[in-house]
Parts: sequence; structure tokens; C-alpha cells
Amino acid sequence: MSAAPWIAAQRQALARQGGHALLLQGPSGLGQYALALELARTWLCEDPQDGGPCGQCAGCHAIDVRTHADLCVLMPETVMLELGWPLPEKAQQEIDDKKRKASREIRVDALRDAVEFAQRTSARGRGKVVLVYPAERMNAIAANTLLKTLEEPAGAVRFVLASEAAHQLLPTIRSRCLSHTLAWPSPEEAMAWLQAQDLPEAEAAVLLRAAGGRPEDALRWAQAGLTARRWSELPKALARGEVASLADWSPAQAVDALQKVCHDLLSVAAGGTPRFFGPADLPVLAAPAGLQALAAWWRELADALRTADHPFNTGLMLEALASRARAVLHFAPPVSPRRP
Ligand SMILES: [Zn+2]
Repeated sequence: MSAAPWIAAQRQALARQGGHALLLQGPSGLGQYALALELARTWLCEDPQDGGPCGQCAGCHAIDVRTHADLCVLMPETVMLELGWPLPEKAQQEIDDKKRKASREIRVDALRDAVEFAQRTSARGRGKVVLVYPAERMNAIAANTLLKTLEEPAGAVRFVLASEAAHQLLPTIRSRCLSHTLAWPSPEEAMAWLQAQDLPEAEAAVLLRAAGGRPEDALRWAQAGLTARRWSELPKALARGEVASLADWSPAQAVDALQKVCHDLLSVAAGGTPRFFGPADLPVLAAPAGLQALAAWWRELADALRTADHPFNTGLMLEALASRARAVLHFAPPVSPRRP
């Protein structure tokens, strides 16, 4: 599949740059991984065309079937499985034998393999590439191992790190890399790309707005079963106290959705326009008491986000979130005036 136009444009500009280590950063859903892989394909292509990979040569083919000897991908095992990369034999065996679960971090073992890889000679003669994604999922030992290799690159090896949370990387790693912030696609580009992924136009428009203009996030939600209708009905369903409106979501996803409801209501209350929902999707609140309740809710949701990855009990957390949403959206109780 050819790259999305905004990814191809960035690849073209970056492929011309020098430097042996690149850090691609920016918010989720803009294509960090897609761009990193496009760069690897470009660098390793045996017959590059107009600053991009030809898609025909043996090198391009080897990447497409995940077997290029000069490409080393460093990812958490869960991400490798999700993106269709084969695990090293030993790791796959351990997981098959249920000795351990697939790792959610980039393992130190994998880093050691990458260091060895960096010292080897290129197999196909176009240099070598180490792709790290998401780069923030390295623990301190793994990050320090990578750092040493970044500082003393052995031979013709290039690094491309991609991260949606670059602030969590070691500053020494960041400073060794040439940094590139992902560009946003235009709404037209994002819509065209989503429709090319078989999303009908009306669905694509609502989900792209729900995802704040980030096309990959919109697609991921669609693939997880979110429909335009369910999204549009969410604020009023919450106001009616329908706990089921959040059911089957992860706590992080639920908090994200509630923050968007809260954001849009605050925006409307302040005389602005909603960003994630249509104006008719939002329940009408009693102002100005509603505004204060919303501001308090916003702070609570920010706190909730911190524990959303590791909730004590997912079901209870979702119920508590829904019941709090109902209290804010349905009653919007008047706040007693503060006395000086
Ligand atoms: Zn090629």
C-alpha cells in the first residue's frame, strides 16, 4: 500500500536530510510508525524513485514480508504482534509455552540483539536501519544500552525513533537525534485517507471530528467498533444516566471521551463552538451553575486519566465515571455562592 500523502511529503523531506538518528514525535494518530517505516523502506530500497521507495525491488519486498536482514525493529512484543512483525524464535517459544506474557515494554534482550545487529555488515549493501517504536517504551537499562550505540554508531546504520510521548525519553537520547514533529494532514487529506480505508464518508467525518483531526486514531476507533451514531448520541446518553454508553471501552478511552464531552460543553458555555461533537449532540445545561460544575468535572477527569491505565477495577471505574457524568450533565446542581 502506498503511503498517505502527508506521510509521503514528510518522508521526501526527511530522506534528503543527513544525520544518523531521527526522532519522529508528536501526538498520537498522525502516523509516527507509518513515517518511520517509510523512511526505512526509502533508505533500504535498491532503486529509490523520486525520494521514495520503489515498492518493486527485492529490498522493498523483503520489508513488506517482514524479513529484511538489514532492518531491525525494536518494539514491545505486544506491538510487534499487533503490527504483524515476527518475534525472535526464543521469545515466541516462551510465549507459546506460557512461560510469560508478551512484553508491553521494549525488552533489554531485544536491545542487546540490536547492538549486535548494528555491528554486523549490511547484508544487502544499502546500509542498515534500526526502527524503535514507541520509543518511550524502553526502561532505563534498555534506553542506556541504546544510548551507547547512538553515541558510537558502528558503520552504516541509521536509527529512526518514533514516539507519541517524546518527553518521556531520556534527554540524552533526544539530544542525539535530529527531531521531527509530525505534520497534521489537512481535513481533506485525512478524509480521503479514511475513505480509502473503506470508511463511508459520513462515518469518517464524525469519527475524524471525534478524534480531533487525527486520522489514525479515527480509524482505530472505527476498527474497535465505534460508530458515528454511538459517538453523536454519547453526551445525551450520559445525561440520561446510561452507564452502558461507556461499557466495553477501556478506562483510558472512556476518560478521553468524557474529556471531549466536557471540553465541548465548556466551549459552548463560553460562547464558542464544539470541537469533537455536533452542536445538536450536546445536552443543554443550566448556566452559570453548569459552568462551575463542568470546571470541577474537568479537573476530576484529568486526575482520573492518571490511574486509567491501571484501574483497581475496570467495571467499577466505568460506573463511577458514568455516574459522575450524569450528575454533572443532568442535574448541573447550583453551586452555593462563595462568601469572601
Ligand atoms: Zn525498492
